[in-house]
Amino acid sequence: MDHDDVTPAASRLDVPAVLAALTLEEKVALLDGSDFWRTTPVERLGVPAAWLSDGPHGVRAQPVGGDHLGAMAATPAVAFPTAAATASSWDVDLLRRLGRALGEEARAQGVQVVLGPGVNMKRSPLCGRNFEYFSEDPYLAGELAVAMVDGVQGAGVGTSVKHFAANNQETDRMSVSVDIDERTLREIYLPAFEAVVTRARPWTVMCAYNRVNGVFASQDPWLLTRVLREEWGYDGLVVSDWGAVYDRDAALAAGLDLEMPSSGGVGAAAVHRALAAGTLTEADVDRSARRVLELVARSRPEPGPDYDEGAHHALAREAAADCVVLLRNDDAVLPLAPTGGPVAVVGEFARTPRFGGGGSSQVTTTRLDDALGALREQLAGREVRFAPGFTLTDDTPEQEAARLRDEAVQAVRGADVALLFLGLPDAYESEGYDREHMHLPPQQVAVLEAVAGAVERVVVVLTNGSVVEVAPWQHHADALLETWLLGQAGGGAVADVLTGAVNPSGKLAETMPVRLADNPALGNFPGDAGVVHYGERLLIGYRWYDAHALQVAYPFGHGLSYTSFEYADLAIEVLDDGVQPRVRASFTVTNTGARAGKEVAQVYVSDDEATVFRPDQELKGFTKVALEPGASTRVEVELDARAFACWHPALGRWVVEPGTFTVLVGASSRDVRLRGAVALAGEPVTLPVDPDASAERWLAHPTLGPRLRELAPGTALGDLILLEGETGQMMRAIPMRRLVRFPGSPITEEWLEEAVAEAQG
Ligand code: BGC
Repeated sequence: MDHDDVTPAASRLDVPAVLAALTLEEKVALLDGSDFWRTTPVERLGVPAAWLSDGPHGVRAQPVGGDHLGAMAATPAVAFPTAAATASSWDVDLLRRLGRALGEEARAQGVQVVLGPGVNMKRSPLCGRNFEYFSEDPYLAGELAVAMVDGVQGAGVGTSVKHFAANNQETDRMSVSVDIDERTLREIYLPAFEAVVTRARPWTVMCAYNRVNGVFASQDPWLLTRVLREEWGYDGLVVSDWGAVYDRDAALAAGLDLEMPSSGGVGAAAVHRALAAGTLTEADVDRSARRVLELVARSRPEPGPDYDEGAHHALAREAAADCVVLLRNDDAVLPLAPTGGPVAVVGEFARTPRFGGGGSSQVTTTRLDDALGALREQLAGREVRFAPGFTLTDDTPEQEAARLRDEAVQAVRGADVALLFLGLPDAYESEGYDREHMHLPPQQVAVLEAVAGAVERVVVVLTNGSVVEVAPWQHHADALLETWLLGQAGGGAVADVLTGAVNPSGKLAETMPVRLADNPALGNFPGDAGVVHYGERLLIGYRWYDAHALQVAYPFGHGLSYTSFEYADLAIEVLDDGVQPRVRASFTVTNTGARAGKEVAQVYVSDDEATVFRPDQELKGFTKVALEPGASTRVEVELDARAFACWHPALGRWVVEPGTFTVLVGASSRDVRLRGAVALAGEPVTLPVDPDASAERWLAHPTLGPRLRELAPGTALGDLILLEGETGQMMRAIPMRRLVRFPGSPITEEWLEEAVAEAQG
């Protein structure tokens, strides 16, 4: 992280002294916003307000008044690619640079905290806000978010990692209760937050709207204090999502410091009532007031220098090109040659780009490039025709739709290649609601079908914030490009990839299933009667498709290039074989094609001897390497204990079990090129035993097992539980307390209780 110019100017604020000088009234007021975006200032003590503003893909600063769903315009800012897109870059350096640029823009506008990034998992492709989240994989989301937070905060501006936790749908988002077991939370839904909190130290964490196992995230002491602060060591500020507070006093007690936006005094009144009733103490108020003051103290009160809009737009374009995923490219139809026959561009998206998602992350752009214009520039040596093909609404009368279709067919006739820009119009996905299906608008598919019959080569360019079903129509396409929502410079970036000015290097950060019905959340999304049951547990995304051996349209981690890469010589070295093992995997990647390109090498780990259920393979490392044609590089990926550990459901903590693990190195989750085994000493797990545990568990226990063996032989029951084969196995499955009741049992309840007490020391 570079902190060159980030000495917080307001650190002149002496927090302990100010806290001591504040009245109780003033301290309580500090816990609430003063308007839509600002904390409450205390003028008499020189405490300014801190300005918090959306959002993760571009600054959405509303200088006066405000709303939090993007309805009102904001000061223009550069719209960078959305998280769905940047995740496909798998490029931590890029995320750091984007974060830095975002931070500089925030500073220039006087914004002190950027409300992002969002690190919720993509549990269902239908979540209306998936464009704002990185991935279905917690490790990938965590690594990218750490880099982004480093970048923003390196510019002297705070972040708000959100929405903590398990906010994975928009339906009933402010009330739904997520019914989830602890292991699933720990292994899937919390790790990205954990990575950001422990490694990037975000100035703020934003709680989620939803409930987790019945408790509002805004007032959940387990989430906000036990896990976040006591386990992860967080010392920053917890802010509510906008309007997420339910009981202000319970929220304060649970660890929610700042309510946003201003509750108009409702929050303060609740806190005063609780103070009077003795359910809250002044120390509770002080604790959170101190954190608000600390946030203000870190914030620079004055706007920073102007940012270089041209440079940021160029960065947005460079980033966008690195996010594009080339899903297929039959007969190397891409890249397009600079000269040749006519190119027909079809699709409204080519001239009216959908650059971002709706709701709170909506940005008022400084400018907006479209792919059509960029293609015309870059293919100046070719005729570039255009037909809109369809409209971006669903209510176009069929007659008009037919006319647009015919016009598109005319445009592609005699062309060398048709580029079809298809996708999801804005209204299909947004903050605030979820999709009900994964289809493209039928009128767009009809245009593709009509055009495909009239031209030899078809390239489909997709614009969407979350995956769509491609199986029903992709046989019409020779090449398929997933461009997500690429920000304001996306048009140029798409042209860069289509013409080969940039070699595509994006890889999917979310699986593209064949159909919605294959998705793990089916039947449990968006839930019933206010509760959503995470029944698939650990098996979200590729973990599910792998476990069920399901065919997918395109697997997690997939993405093609205009060159090719080979992987060789995997070496696995154990750096530390203790209970917190460390392993280094090294291998060689070679660019075997004729163009320079970048490859995302992925490292997955699989536990071959687990005693608890584990997904087949899980992403635990990756690197993006740039290689000239013919060049090779040795890649080293270090795997720490967490790469091998599971959250042990019986022990309630992370454990690396002893045994063999397989390290898989691949170009995607389903294109494994190298694999090797590693044996780790790990930590032998002794499951806690009580009188209700089975005889099997007792026999396996290091001290209780031998005691039981001593007691059992010679008695009828003892002989049975020690028998080899099925009968013995059946008997050993019986809980010890039940065996007491068996005729001739040598065991009494007292003996059991005593033995357990002794074993527990
Ligand atoms: C969203 C947050 C956003 C906030 C402020 C909420 O509706 O969930 O992500 O930061 O509004 O706009």
